[in-house]
Amino acid sequence: MDKNEKINELARRRGFLWPAFELYGGAAGFFDYGPLGAPLKRRIEDIWRQYFVIQEGFAEIEAPTIGVEGIYQASGHLSGFSDPLTGCKECKEVYRADHLIKHIVEVPDALSNEEIYKTIQENEIGCPECGGQLTEVYEFNLMFKTMIGPGNKMTGYMRPETAQGMFINFPRLLRYFRDSLPFAAVQIGKSYRNEISPRQGVIRLREFTQAEAEIFIDPRDKTHPRFGEIRDIRMKFYSQAAQEKGVEEEMTFGEAVERGVVAHQALAYYVARTYQFLLAIGVAPDKLRFRQHKADEMAHYAADCWDAEVFLDRLGWIEIVGVADRTDYDLKAHAATSKVNLSVFVHYDQPVKRQKLVVKPDFKSLGPRFKGKAKAVGEALKALSPEELKGDMIRLTVDGEPIEIEPTLVSFESVEEEIRGEEVIPHVIEPSFGIDRILYTVLDHSYYEDAVDGESRAVLKFLPAVAPIEVAVLPLMDRKELVGPARAIVDELRRLGLRVDYDTSGSIGRRYRRNDEIGTPYDVTVDYETIEQGTVTIRDRDTMLQIKVPLAQVANTLQALLCGTIKFEAAGTILSPAKEA
Ligand code: AMP
Repeated sequence: MDKNEKINELARRRGFLWPAFELYGGAAGFFDYGPLGAPLKRRIEDIWRQYFVIQEGFAEIEAPTIGVEGIYQASGHLSGFSDPLTGCKECKEVYRADHLIKHIVEVPDALSNEEIYKTIQENEIGCPECGGQLTEVYEFNLMFKTMIGPGNKMTGYMRPETAQGMFINFPRLLRYFRDSLPFAAVQIGKSYRNEISPRQGVIRLREFTQAEAEIFIDPRDKTHPRFGEIRDIRMKFYSQAAQEKGVEEEMTFGEAVERGVVAHQALAYYVARTYQFLLAIGVAPDKLRFRQHKADEMAHYAADCWDAEVFLDRLGWIEIVGVADRTDYDLKAHAATSKVNLSVFVHYDQPVKRQKLVVKPDFKSLGPRFKGKAKAVGEALKALSPEELKGDMIRLTVDGEPIEIEPTLVSFESVEEEIRGEEVIPHVIEPSFGIDRILYTVLDHSYYEDAVDGESRAVLKFLPAVAPIEVAVLPLMDRKELVGPARAIVDELRRLGLRVDYDTSGSIGRRYRRNDEIGTPYDVTVDYETIEQGTVTIRDRDTMLQIKVPLAQVANTLQALLCGTIKFEAAGTILSPAKEA
């Protein structure tokens, strides 16, 4: 078994991830999060909230997962969110047509369906399964379609991303944020894509969880007020230029922006926040890089785009997050389809003064000539520009009646005008996280095998902040005199809000192994010394060191260990304040 198989097996056996609907034969691309998987996922999402809601002052919203047609017409999903397919005429297996010619054409995405089919025919490519003849290439839209209400009157689609919920609520969000930029809204929730060949566990699912932020900024100012906080962080940038050379380049975010590696401060800031978040949940920094989209990969409207990629055994480099400057593309598309103005009036710091020529009709002459209509004629004249008033005669239509006026009846005056601001369509920075892939990465990067007394163990070295179980309380034996004090410890720790498991089954060694395997940072063992001397043993998962702690200090010690203010140091006994990382 390779590491990937071992992790999937462990995840299944211990209750992290279960293939869904097993009782009824299952369906590819769907997974259940079990009793350990669900809390692991929730904790990762909560840390994401810390980073992208609480610390940034963004608003979390929750939109329906079914959307109406107009949304996906505007977003382009209806016409463009599809893959080219071909099927076997014999065995009826279906394939991504572009994948079948990857070894012949370098960028199959650039070909039309007819061209792909021609390449298949010319190269005599048959069904990879049975060698049968392949059908013509057709488009398959990846959205799940459904009907809203009875009578097939309204088509709905399961959302293929959470982002649209923020875009279509833009006018209300703008009002909520008191009509000023920048502001941002986020969603954590399910998205649905009818993937053609879901595989590799939770890496490609048909129902998955996204966490996305849409950050609306003033297009004329792409600096970030908190850039100073991340300027000196060093990271591996795999820019377009670095990809040509095939090596990542390490530099600070300050350098990356100064050298134009990342387009601007605002994008760099959110790449840095993404980096900090991924480290905070336990993604290994040496297996993480940020890769810039290549020119032919970047969406035509995007100003710049960086993917967080992680290295996973067997699978190689996999995208887990995308951070893009999508410019005004989405808002413009929704404004055009919905016919609602989605621009924002941005006030200048100081009003700008400007000289302006205004038209002054000669009412003394217009009055007697046009009588009751004179006012309307005057207003119509005022609405014309100085250019339109040139020539030998001014021609107007007032109340449907054509009128001619000599230019001598109009004069001009230069007045000072105060301009307070202008209408802009915000640009959008979008960090888009795939939570399932991130969770799998945490499993992969936390997984270690080592040997204890000649016996090998598997251990998930979860950071305490994500561990689904923080403490396991283990009476040495299932005896009344030990169970009583052990239960009392469980109750106390749970009252304090810790995630505690209580286990009496099997030998103590087996229970340690089990808790190592599910990533429990600390085990508390209750034995006869607990009764005789009032102490328990706390065991550290990573070092397997043990210390004795008086009963009265168990809770405090565990809390300090879990939040990192103290840590295990040397054999047997010593706890010391954690060294600065
Ligand atoms: P995208 O909108 O395609 O850029 O996807 C945003 C993020 O969602 C990606 O970085 C992935 O982490 C995740 N993602 C996309 N498609 C899937 C899928 N089929 N299954 C699981 N995660 C996905």
